[in-house]
Order: sequence, then structure tokens, then C-alpha cells
Amino acid sequence: MPNPICENLESINERIRNACHGCGRDLDEITLVAISKTKPVSDILEAAECGQRHFGENKVQELTDKLDEIERTDLIWHMVGALQTNKIKYLAGGIHWIHSIPKIKALKEVEKRAKQAETPINVLIQVNISGEGQKSGCDPEELDDIIEYAKDLRYTHIRGLMGIASLVDDQEEVRPEFKLLHSLKEKYSGTDSTKIQMDQLSMGMTNDLEVAIEEGATMLRVGTAVFGNRNYQ
Ligand SMILES: *Cc1c(COP(=O)(O)O)cnc(C)c1O
Repeated sequence: MPNPICENLESINERIRNACHGCGRDLDEITLVAISKTKPVSDILEAAECGQRHFGENKVQELTDKLDEIERTDLIWHMVGALQTNKIKYLAGGIHWIHSIPKIKALKEVEKRAKQAETPINVLIQVNISGEGQKSGCDPEELDDIIEYAKDLRYTHIRGLMGIASLVDDQEEVRPEFKLLHSLKEKYSGTDSTKIQMDQLSMGMTNDLEVAIEEGATMLRVGTAVFGNRNYQ
């Protein structure tokens, strides 16, 4: 029996290859983060069997439960969901990337906990690019202060920006949102600090990954196309 998750991964990787080819980008610049929220550990292990290494979750409890259960040490874990500051302590030391830091208070806590765990952590600042009130992320105008603050952190490595585009049927509608995030990344990529690298742009999901690649995404967060539909968020 062919493994459906492997087949899904093959077709996503083909979508990624085609999109890169179409806009002249190098495939090596793109990381596929498989978003396994609500899915069982067995699905994650199946994906890992077919070579997938980066996985993401959107809830702290679910992520730490899965980390406890999965014994493989070769997987790279990403937290991509809205994060209460008081839960950051559960992530330090266990995961490699947090995509969803929208404010200085959260950065401060990441630094404190990463220092305690003596494990540096890669962070993306989440920006609200859809303009919708209920979506998390900072406003573009708040980035100046956040980046300035982050310059002096030791265990927190700012690696770029993350955004969630509006949920629409036509991919073209989200292009301006991705362009905005890309331009913000460029704006801060010259920041003079060794702790601020700005080499990553986390944008693009199942429905809009082609446009995201065309607009400069380096990390795609793809759930449904890897693991199938979810019954709940
Ligand atoms: C669920 C989720 C995704 C994946 O969405 P799909 O449409 O299933 O690919 C990406 N990013 C975040 C923050 C998510 O919560």
C-alpha cells in the first residue's frame, strides 16, 4: 500500500519545484514546514519516514505532548501559533523555531527562558499583514521598536518575519500582503547586529504557497496538503 502522506509530500514538493522553476528561485532556499496540528504522532512519523524533517504545531500543550512521545532527535520543531507569554517557558530547550512572536514582552520571555535552558532559539516576528483585527501579529509600524529591542538579546536570534495572509479563494488577492512582508524583511535586513539575520520569510500555506514562493517565501507552513483535512482547528 502506498503511504498517502508520502504521496502528499511528493506532490507538494513538486508544487514547490514548479513554483521555484517558474520564478527562477533556487529550491534550496525553501523549507517546507509540515503543520501537524490535530494530527496523531503516527502521521508525523510517517512523514518523517519519507524524509520530512521540519514540523510545526500551533498549540504549546499539543507540541510538548508530541515532543515527549516522539523519540526521534532528527526532527526540527516550529511553533507557529499564537502564543501566550506564560507558556513560552515550556518551549525553550525543546524546539528550534518560534514563528509567532508579535511583541517585546514575548521576546523578553523567550530570551529569559532560552538563557535558562542554555539553548539559543530562532525567532520570527509575526506581522499582521491581512489587516484583519482577529489575526495576531504586530502592526508594521511596531517593528522598529521590536527590532531595536532584539538587537541586544543573546539567546534569541531574530531570523525574519512571519505572516498569515487573508483567507480567500483567489491566490492573487494575497499577493500584496506577501509583497508587504517581503518589503519589511528587506527594510530590516541591513540591521547592524549579529543577532538579527532577517534571512527567513515564513509565509504561504496549502492554498497560497505558489504566490508565496513568487514573493520571496523561504518557509512554507503547509498542513492540509500534507496530512489531509482537519476536523477542528
Ligand atoms: C494550520 C496552520 C497552517 C497550515 O494551514 P493549511 O491551510 O492547512 O496548510 C499554517 N500556519 C499556521 C499559523 C497555522 O495555524
